[in-house]
Amino acid sequence: MADIIGKLTRISGPMIAADGMMGVSMGEIVRVGKMRLMGEVIRIDGETAFAQVYEDTSGMYLGEPVEAQGLPLSIELGPGLLSQIYDGIQRPLEALRKSSGDFIGRGLDADPLDYERKWAFTPIAAVGQEVTAGDFIGSVPETEHLNHYIMVPPDKSGKIASIVAAGEYNIKEVIATLEDGTELTMTQKWPVKLPRPFQKKLPSNTPFITGQRVLDMLFPIPLGGSAMVPGGFGAGKTVVEQQISKFCNADIIIYVGCGERGNEMADVLDEFPKLKDPKTGGPLMNRTVLVANTSNMPVAAREASVYTGITLAEYYRDMGYAVAMMADSTSRWAEALREISSRLEEMPGEEGYPTYLSTRIAEFYERTGRVECMGTTAEGEEVRTGSLTLVAAVSPPGGDFSEPVTQNSMRVSGGFWALDAKLAYSRHYPSVNWNQSYSLYLNDLKDWFDQNAPAGWAERRQQVVDLLQKDTELQEIVQLVGPDALQEQERLVLELSRMVKEVFLQQNAFSDNDAYSSLEKTGGLLEALMIFYEECRGALDQGVELQALLDLPEREEISRLREENSEGFDAKKTAVIEAMKTALRGAVEAVA
Ligand code: ADP
Ligand code: MG
Repeated sequence: MADIIGKLTRISGPMIAADGMMGVSMGEIVRVGKMRLMGEVIRIDGETAFAQVYEDTSGMYLGEPVEAQGLPLSIELGPGLLSQIYDGIQRPLEALRKSSGDFIGRGLDADPLDYERKWAFTPIAAVGQEVTAGDFIGSVPETEHLNHYIMVPPDKSGKIASIVAAGEYNIKEVIATLEDGTELTMTQKWPVKLPRPFQKKLPSNTPFITGQRVLDMLFPIPLGGSAMVPGGFGAGKTVVEQQISKFCNADIIIYVGCGERGNEMADVLDEFPKLKDPKTGGPLMNRTVLVANTSNMPVAAREASVYTGITLAEYYRDMGYAVAMMADSTSRWAEALREISSRLEEMPGEEGYPTYLSTRIAEFYERTGRVECMGTTAEGEEVRTGSLTLVAAVSPPGGDFSEPVTQNSMRVSGGFWALDAKLAYSRHYPSVNWNQSYSLYLNDLKDWFDQNAPAGWAERRQQVVDLLQKDTELQEIVQLVGPDALQEQERLVLELSRMVKEVFLQQNAFSDNDAYSSLEKTGGLLEALMIFYEECRGALDQGVELQALLDLPEREEISRLREENSEGFDAKKTAVIEAMKTALRGAVEAVA
């Protein structure tokens, strides 16, 4: 292909225009200016190409060259991705820092993966075997706990002509050839804006377990589902995303952070590498890839980072893993779209966002799901399935959910975990508002919970939903006429709801025993609370005074259960419930 080299004719923040770009394609990568900053063509007008630039454009001059690269923005996939920290265009932050000091220099290139490192490759495919897209040709223990499957890239197929013996190879060495001469290595490139192919989407009936009681019990989503987490500044979005990263039941975490406050991303970069994986005891980074945008990176890089993140996620999904992507926050991405769109002088839609905002958000959420993967497994027997779950934070200005990013995300997201400034202000964390939040997946997950969760899960859930609903109604009455108008049974509802909020819905991310709540603990804690509620209702009917019930020391014991570790929770819970029942029987007998 002939080289396309144009001349810079306009520089407008992160957006540039260049003339003499005839033949360039939409989405093509260009190198801009003498610094060779990376950009992406986002509009073509005859010979003029407009590009968004992923690095700071200051100090460039009109007339400098703009060179088309012939390829859309692509990332490199292969062993060694896990535990990396990348910027939005897959440059490893560590390598960049080393080569340019603490401040990341512009126009720098750095290899996304280590090309020298040797990996222990074990072949799966054999000479003479017909292989197609997605088939496993071998595997590599990427970490102690995770096999990285080397797959035939989506655009290749044929008969294996040669394959190396088990041994140590780097990712650039040819490990297999096809009969037509195609050489396969352990890496492949993929354009980030193009969803990676799969056979078909499958229904998903297995929950994405977060270890957060309010989410797992009230608003669960499946592996392959999506949840949005809207919340104003300080509502707890980042803590929620990090808690889920630590404790969820996914095999792989892709964490995309777009710094909101000055040093927020720096905190994440500092803290993440220190976190322990509760499942293995090893570093959490061993099953994580971080894509980080510090707040001094230009807006276009945020756009790239969400696509880079979801492509990484799809790649591990294709191997048959459960992958969870955390995006914090997608509003920063939408704002980048808005800024670029306004620089392009496009017709603005709602609140200045481009009219294609809803399409972009929908297309992004569409990349989630549980799928039947391309290719067969090694034995060619079972279907390979993988899932990509998305938890996307949204930061509406002033916490106002009527704004376009929240509204457009709501249309496509199956879970809505609304964080509430009032709750956060009163230090009720996680500040998930139980009236506003919802999950559209409850029916899909019902059977799984019936079969696998602690006994009585669905009934307890319904009880607590009803209780909180009654509480909301009664609170309104109290607002109007004061608490004296309430009957004892109604006051019991208020007291028990308060207890549910404090003991069950709240969960301290910084407590060793409570940061994670297993399904046993989540179900057991609610069981204790609901049995207490039932018993108290009965006792009131028998003429016991409400205050006498509230004063029982056994009530405190229930509250204290929250601080018990998930391990061995059942036995402790059973003891507390027995003691509580005995005490209540005593209270009833005393008035009989
Ligand atoms: P956001 O990302 O929405 O701006 P953060 O996630 O940074 O908000 O939360 C702000 C602060 O709220 C945290 O620094 C922490 O002190 C507190 N917080 C949030 N969630 C929890 C939690 N689950 N447990 C304890 N503290 C929390
Ligand atoms: Mg945050």
